[in-house]
Amino acid sequence: MKIVQVKCPSCNQAIMMKEKDKLFYCDKCNVMHIREGGAPEKVDFEIAEFSPKAQGEKVYMPFWRLYTTFIVRSKNVEGGTIFKMSQWLKGGSDSGNMFIYIPAAELDAGTFRKFSTMFTGAAPRYPTRLNFNNVRRLPGTLPKQEAAQLADFVVVTMEAEQPGVLQKLDYSLTVNDTKLVYLPFVMTPQGPMSAL
Ligand SMILES: [Zn+2]
Repeated sequence: MKIVQVKCPSCNQAIMMKEKDKLFYCDKCNVMHIREGGAPEKVDFEIAEFSPKAQGEKVYMPFWRLYTTFIVRSKNVEGGTIFKMSQWLKGGSDSGNMFIYIPAAELDAGTFRKFSTMFTGAAPRYPTRLNFNNVRRLPGTLPKQEAAQLADFVVVTMEAEQPGVLQKLDYSLTVNDTKLVYLPFVMTPQGPMSAL
């Protein structure tokens, strides 16, 4: 395993990381930073608390949480509303703001789809904590810029559950803000499970 050593841009402490993790956490000053193209950039992040009932091997999985504005330009759906869209945009409105969750960890396609649609469909609520409490963090391998590009993929994946809707939907999606969110999971034989 290759190890990378960098310095915290805030306090200069050395941080050792596995090579593939793009997210560097300084446990001395609680600053997270990312290096995309070399220069360190501080990242706004939060850490969700585990459910007191969580059992088993705990891990924190990084997500990019995109705060987006969603505008439906046209929707020609016979006999009804677009189900998912009306869930996101309260009151059947044609525009609104929503959070899109993009897993930043290295996941297979099925697991990626499962967690992105699960948390985007029903935004998780949780108390936050100030440190990782020595729980292992899964490496963050997805750059922030790519998360924004994947937001459309998540929307399309969710709508595609309803046949015939996808090709009739014309919308625009603007990312206003991106935050890194660490959500709690436990490892099971079936894969990671949410431990919120
Ligand atoms: Zn530091």
